[in-house]
Amino acid sequence: MAVPPSKISPIIIVGAGAFGLSTALHLAHAGYSNVTVVDYQPYDEIAYSTALGADAASADMNKVLRLSYGSEILYQRLAFDSLEYWNAWNEQISQSAPEQLPKGLKPTDKIWNNCGYLRMSLDEKLSEHEEATLLNLTAEGLRDTQYILGNQNDDARARSKGLTRKFDPMLRKARGKSLTGVFDSTAGFVEASKCCTWAMHLAKQAGVKFVLGHQGRMTSFLKKNGRTCGIMTADGQRHKADLVVLAAGAWTPSILPSLAPLLETTAGSVAYFQLPPQEQAPELWERFSPANFPVYAWGGWSKGAGLGGFPRTETGILKIGFRGTKYTNYETVVDEKGDEHRISVPKTAWWPRAATPQITKQAAVEIKDFVKENLPELADLGIAGCRNCWYTDSLDNNFVIDWVPDDAGLVICSGGSGHGFKFLPILGREVVKIIENPTQKNEYGKMWAWRTQTNGPRNGLEDGEGGSRVLSKQKMATKEDWKFSETAKL
Ligand SMILES: Cc1cc2nc3c(=O)[nH]c(=O)nc-3n(C[C@H](O)[C@H](O)[C@H](O)COP(=O)(O)OP(=O)(O)OC[C@H]3O[C@@H](n4cnc5c(N)ncnc54)[C@H](O)[C@@H]3O)c2cc1C
Repeated sequence: MAVPPSKISPIIIVGAGAFGLSTALHLAHAGYSNVTVVDYQPYDEIAYSTALGADAASADMNKVLRLSYGSEILYQRLAFDSLEYWNAWNEQISQSAPEQLPKGLKPTDKIWNNCGYLRMSLDEKLSEHEEATLLNLTAEGLRDTQYILGNQNDDARARSKGLTRKFDPMLRKARGKSLTGVFDSTAGFVEASKCCTWAMHLAKQAGVKFVLGHQGRMTSFLKKNGRTCGIMTADGQRHKADLVVLAAGAWTPSILPSLAPLLETTAGSVAYFQLPPQEQAPELWERFSPANFPVYAWGGWSKGAGLGGFPRTETGILKIGFRGTKYTNYETVVDEKGDEHRISVPKTAWWPRAATPQITKQAAVEIKDFVKENLPELADLGIAGCRNCWYTDSLDNNFVIDWVPDDAGLVICSGGSGHGFKFLPILGREVVKIIENPTQKNEYGKMWAWRTQTNGPRNGLEDGEGGSRVLSKQKMATKEDWKFSETAKL
């Protein structure tokens, strides 16, 4: 039987990504006074910088923040609730003196940017998912935040608010191409690494302890009579705890192999385009700035499908992501009993060892085809860099946040399924409820409960190692493939 901790119980959270940070923050705010987060990344020194070795999904230049969730109103509401925090966090950072901010943040940083989100359809009609989104937003009184392109009323409303410049940022109409979709004025992007830096700072202020770097690498669970009672770290330390929360992102299934039937580690592909220096190309910097250019989805990009991208960053980088195929990487993992499992594990630019970042040829071709069709001015630049971003997909794309069956000391907090970051400020609110009420779950607790499903489609998990998405079965893109020449084809 799960035993909720007392307010003074030692609690350890493994992983300082969005899920672990949010849990820590809300536990501390709920009065839990002995919360420690461990992570093997020295985030206090590197400020979640991907250039300095951070390879968690949460360490990134930007992620989409959207309320639009098709028929899934619970996520829509949670995203809506998170907006209050995102706005408050922007305000708090802007009101801080430079010396009050953690390394990696300055008062002018706006970690949440409400630049809008253009969701484009490929087949000249709105998808069922889009129609469901509009219905749900209407039901919550939010229809006026959405603008169907070409709808007379919506166009008029948009003109009065000066929003129409973001309706066709790829100038499709001027190039004689069709344009169908919805502009979502509630959405935009968050600067993920900076958000984590800020959340860690808030958690520290609330009394959470952090053990980072080598001594923060969890190597195994401590067990007593089958119950988790702490963790061992790479420096040989035993950290006892009444509760361990496992929030290790893409590393989670390999740490707890019993999760494999419901969670799989997969990679989305990301390519970067670097604009020329601002003084050489001021018009491109202006055109792609968040003030003029929205976040966009091309053909459905929610919860792990399709392709999409962002306005330029402050250093002139345009990020485009492809998640039409989510790649896996199966390796042998030995569990604590010595049993072997074949489990998909991350393979990043830094893990298990430093390597040149590569995306697949398929992803490079998809991204280049999109650029040729929509942003031809980027073709001359070519792809400047790339990344496989690893995360955990659950069998139904819902998070997995629950007490682990038959273990009264372990809670799992993972399964972000490509859409978890936006909830960084709010997710922990629900995690605390799940921790405190193991048997009396609310609607979120039920949706994220430990679950199994053995028959039928399981979000691709049923493919396993025999499937076509395995990374070792792919052709990888060379730097030649990053260019837009005719020879660089599949
Ligand atoms: C390509 C891509 C695009 C995405 N786009 C969006 C988006 O637009 N909007 C959105 O909301 N979400 C998006 N997501 C999803 C989002 O990034 C994730 O849901 C979220 O970041 C997951 O956070 P996490 O804390 O579960 O995992 P992570 O961020 O991976 O954090 C896990 C942490 O655990 C640590 N760890 C692992 N093993 C150990 C160990 N043994 N000991 C100690 N520490 C350990 C790692 O170092 C890491 O810091 C995207 C994800 C990807 C990959």
